[in-house]
Amino acid sequence: MAKTALVTGTTGQDGSFLSELLLSKGYEVCGLVRRLSSPNITNIQHVMKDLRLLDGDMTDQTSMITALKESRPDEIYNLAAQSFVATSFRQPVLTADVNGLGAVRLLEAAKEVVPDARIYQASTSELFGLVRETPQNENTPFHPRSPYGVSKLFAYWACVNYREAYEMHVSNGILYNHESSRRGLEFLTRKVTDGVARIAKGKATHIELGNLDPKRDWGYAPEYVDAMWRMLQQPKPDDYVIGTGESHTVREFVELAFREAGIEKWDKYVRTDPKHFRPAEVQTLCADPSKARNVLGWRAKTRLPELVKIMVKADLERVGG
Ligand code: NDP
Ligand code: GDP
Repeated sequence: MAKTALVTGTTGQDGSFLSELLLSKGYEVCGLVRRLSSPNITNIQHVMKDLRLLDGDMTDQTSMITALKESRPDEIYNLAAQSFVATSFRQPVLTADVNGLGAVRLLEAAKEVVPDARIYQASTSELFGLVRETPQNENTPFHPRSPYGVSKLFAYWACVNYREAYEMHVSNGILYNHESSRRGLEFLTRKVTDGVARIAKGKATHIELGNLDPKRDWGYAPEYVDAMWRMLQQPKPDDYVIGTGESHTVREFVELAFREAGIEKWDKYVRTDPKHFRPAEVQTLCADPSKARNVLGWRAKTRLPELVKIMVKADLERVGG
């Protein structure tokens, strides 16, 4: 019999790629979507007819219980979040509510309605924040540096606790930054590839950025949702670091993106604006994904130059069109 999955955050970057992957594997895919005045369906428009969308919000416990009763999922992927670090400094309470308490609401609802369901929690490399070692693995101590990181730390430990206290099958994917042409325009990579495309097409004169020194381990999102699925196919729940194992500065990303559009002198087009600096920064992140490679048979294929190429090409086509 076909399995059923409930995906929260279906309309986001990862939720849309994961929904596609699960549909291709024959799952019935239910997506939890919140009510907005203008529906945000750009990322899932092409698969809408195959999805079962259920009304719900991570801040509303009842809607989650109802969604679980209606879908009775074998697997639950909790991807919904206020996912932008910069916004979390301006909206810390909302971020804690959606990302932290939201995860507990979902765990609690699952404990009551579908205690045997396997659960994936979208944890993050932001947990490592002020890193204690490089690269980071599953045993590296956490030190989050933003309300976003703090909210995700609460959710991470809630998942470990439900696993230990109730023997539920709950796994944390500690994912490093992963990007695509579906990434929100406010994130660094997309802001840059969109800006580069506008400049190349004569529709903008410059991009305003913040700190160019931080280093990130950037991978390609469609590959990362496969890691989520693999975690839930394991007989035992566990936590896994997922990343490429390579780290690059923001500056390197910017330079590669301009070069990809045929512009060599990138610094002529980049201005620095203090408003894009964060009150506390995560300076460097680099994954040690050995456990995922050994246990899940997962490894990142797309490296930074190829990722930049994919994203710049897509934005040049979109802006040009
Ligand atoms: P997006 O920001 O693209 O998607 C977030 C999703 O959450 C959207 O579907 C959004 O819905 C939904 N959402 C937000 N608030 C609520 C709410 N109150 N109730 C219900 N749904 C809500 O994030 P990504 O796809 O990039 O990331 C997926 C998950 O992985 C997130 O939890 C993120 O924090 C985490 N993560 C992401 C990484 C990355 O590099 N992308 C790295 C590590 C972790 P709507 O469309 O209505 O806004
Ligand atoms: P994050 O790693 O989850 O915070 O993902 P982002 O894509 O938002 O940011 C990646 C890095 O780029 C962070 O260190 C930011 O401080 C840095 N950065 C520099 N300028 C900008 C900018 O204009 N926008 C964003 N979003 N990030 C920037």
